[in-house]
Amino acid sequence: MIISKCLVCRHAEDGIYIRCRKCGGMVLFEYTDLKWAVQRDLPSMWRYWRMLPPTEKRVTLGEGYTPIKKVGGVFVKNETVNPTRSYADRASSTIVSNLDSSSLKYVKDFALSLAYYLKSSNKPAKVYVDPKEADPQELIFLHNLGAEIIFSDALDPSVLNYDNPFVIEGLKTIAFEIVERGPKIDEIYVPAKTGLLALSIIKGLHEASESGMDLGSSYSVVAVRLESDKELPHGIRTVNVDPRDALKSLVDLARVGIRTELLSASAYSMAANSGSGLALLTGSSRIDVRLGGGRFSPIKSKVKRALERRGSATAYEVWEDIGTHSLRGIYKVMRTMEIEGVVKGEYVMRGRRKVKQYRLL
Ligand SMILES: [Zn+2]
Repeated sequence: MIISKCLVCRHAEDGIYIRCRKCGGMVLFEYTDLKWAVQRDLPSMWRYWRMLPPTEKRVTLGEGYTPIKKVGGVFVKNETVNPTRSYADRASSTIVSNLDSSSLKYVKDFALSLAYYLKSSNKPAKVYVDPKEADPQELIFLHNLGAEIIFSDALDPSVLNYDNPFVIEGLKTIAFEIVERGPKIDEIYVPAKTGLLALSIIKGLHEASESGMDLGSSYSVVAVRLESDKELPHGIRTVNVDPRDALKSLVDLARVGIRTELLSASAYSMAANSGSGLALLTGSSRIDVRLGGGRFSPIKSKVKRALERRGSATAYEVWEDIGTHSLRGIYKVMRTMEIEGVVKGEYVMRGRRKVKQYRLL
């Protein structure tokens, strides 16, 4: 059973609530009977579905189950391989699986990710944007995804905000993946804007330990920030990084093919200094999809024929099959076709590898 517990006034109530019914504060879900349970053949965050709020319609694009590896001697968890390159996809998956709302407040990375997930369930998003906070490139991507963009900072209570418990439930699966894999580390360095990600990981670690999983070591979560102007809530341990160190790490990571953002590079530079840390790396969402057009372009027709022949195949296999066009071009076209609802991509395990397999809808 789930209890909704308010972080502000501590009011607790049985059942699932998005906000505290007494003070309107942010709530966390507490589980009364949590048991560590992993569905090992599911290569996404939903391998932990038994430790997530129950849902009848799971909306998933293969988010989560991201790799943990060593880069330059430092453990990293690479969240840039998520569908929109951001850990926000985990939150989008739990939100769209559990809530009906398609009106949302613009927050960088989150809004684009959520709009992408809504689109995949055929629900166009309505995004309320405060013009002072908007990333212009992201607004174009949102528009291309078919989202309605409303410039207003006066929000109706029905508009979804990000400090909601389903976001935390999605993001906590990062902690589960770290625990399941069990790297020998002491600290988890987390890029922090609002502290929501760090809070979610702390919750995930706590639940893993409460649910009977032997953590091996007691990980401490450190929120990494570039400036020190605002304290993070909830007593989260915080460090501030000199942007010059972070820039160097940003370039080091780019050299090994990880395109991340400055705040994640700061987490990497902290983990490198500590010698016993893991850095969480995330990317900025970049979803450049142009929808519509009605008629099939020649390349789309070729992809369609290849899938008709093969039943299901990875983008790589389709590329081999077609024999013309670049691999990159095929990837892009198949992703567009997925958003358009022509094909469906599913992550499956092949041996020990997680691959994305497409079929026609
Ligand atoms: Zn309250």
